[in-house]
Amino acid sequence: MKIIDLRSDTVTKPTTEMREVIATAEVGDDVFGDDPTVNKLQDKTAHLLGKEAALFVPSGTMANQVSIKAHTQPGDEVLIEADAHVFNYESGAPAFLSGVTLHRLSGVRGVFTAEQVEEAIRPGDHHFAPTRLVMIENTNNRAGGTIFPVAEMQRIRDTASRFDLSVHLDGARLWNASAATGLDPRNWTDLADSVSVCLSKGLGCPVGSLIAGSAEFIDRCHRYRKVFGGGMRQAGILAAAGIYALDNHRERMVDDHRNCRLLADAIYHLPGTVIDLQAVHTNILIVELTEDAPFDGPGMVKALKEVGVWITSGALNKVRLVTHLDVSTEDVEDAVDRIRRVWSV
Ligand SMILES: *Cc1c(COP(=O)(O)O)cnc(C)c1O
Repeated sequence: MKIIDLRSDTVTKPTTEMREVIATAEVGDDVFGDDPTVNKLQDKTAHLLGKEAALFVPSGTMANQVSIKAHTQPGDEVLIEADAHVFNYESGAPAFLSGVTLHRLSGVRGVFTAEQVEEAIRPGDHHFAPTRLVMIENTNNRAGGTIFPVAEMQRIRDTASRFDLSVHLDGARLWNASAATGLDPRNWTDLADSVSVCLSKGLGCPVGSLIAGSAEFIDRCHRYRKVFGGGMRQAGILAAAGIYALDNHRERMVDDHRNCRLLADAIYHLPGTVIDLQAVHTNILIVELTEDAPFDGPGMVKALKEVGVWITSGALNKVRLVTHLDVSTEDVEDAVDRIRRVWSV
C-alpha cells in the first residue's frame, strides 16, 4: 500500500532533476563569502522579492529569529498575530535569543488590522516596553494557509511607518500566496522592511530559508547568523536546489492548491466534520471534528495511519492535511477513497 503523507509540505524529497543540480553545483566556503552558488541564490531571491540583499540560512526559524534580533533591542515589544508560527512553534526563541516580549493581536483567519496595531502600540512612557516591530505571516500556517490581503497589509505598513515601527513578513509560504493569487510576491514584500522565505516547504528543497531586506539590514543579519551558529561552508549544494526550485517549482503550486480544495470538498461531506471553506486558500486544510464524527483528532490520525494516509492533529478536535509536490491528484483521490472507507460511508 502506498503511503500518502499529508502531514506537512516539509516531507517532500528532492526530485531526480534537483539531485542532479545538487551533484554538479559549484561550491566554495560561504563563511568567506566564496560560494558562487549561494551568492547566486541570494541575488536571485533578493531580486524576486524586490530587496537589495538576501541571506541564506538553515531554517525558517533562524530566518525569523535573526530578523527579530536585527530589528530589536532587549526589552522591546513585538506585535504579532496570536496564532503566529513565531509565537507557537519557535521554542520561545524571541525571549530566549532577543529578550523581547510578544504582544499578540487576535486575527481573523490570521489577519489583523491597522486599527489593532495602532491600539496596541505603547505610549512613549517609561512604564511601557517600547513597541518596535510588527510581524505578519503570509500564508498563515495555523489558520490553514490563508492569504494576508495586500490592502490590509498596506494599511498596517502606513500605521507602522507613522509610529516608526519596522515590519517583518514571515513568508515561509509566500510562494503559495503568490501562486494562488497570481500576484507578484513584491506586492507584499514592498510593504515590509524584511522578509523570510522558505525553500524546504512547497518548493521541495531539502534545506534552507532566506532573509531579504536592505543591504544594511542584511549586513547586520549576517553577524547574527554567525552568532546563532548558522554560518555554513560549502552550502552551494543546498543553494543549487533552491535556484532550481525557484525556477521550476513555484508555478506548479497551483496543483497543490487544487488538490487541497479536492480534499476539502470531499471531507466536507463526511458526517461530523466542519471545514471553513472560505479559509481554504492554498495547500493547508484544517478539519474540525464534532461529536458526530467517529473519531477525535488523535483517533482520526491513528485510523488513517492504518490505511496509509498520514496526517497530523494539532488539537483534540482538529486535524490538518497538507498537499505538496510529492502527492499527485491521483494520490489525493486515493486518500479520499481511503478516508471514506474509514468513515464507512
Ligand atoms: C515552517 C514555518 C516557519 C519555519 O520553519 P522551520 O521549520 O524552522 O524551517 C516559519 N514560519 C512559518 C509560518 C512556517 O510555516
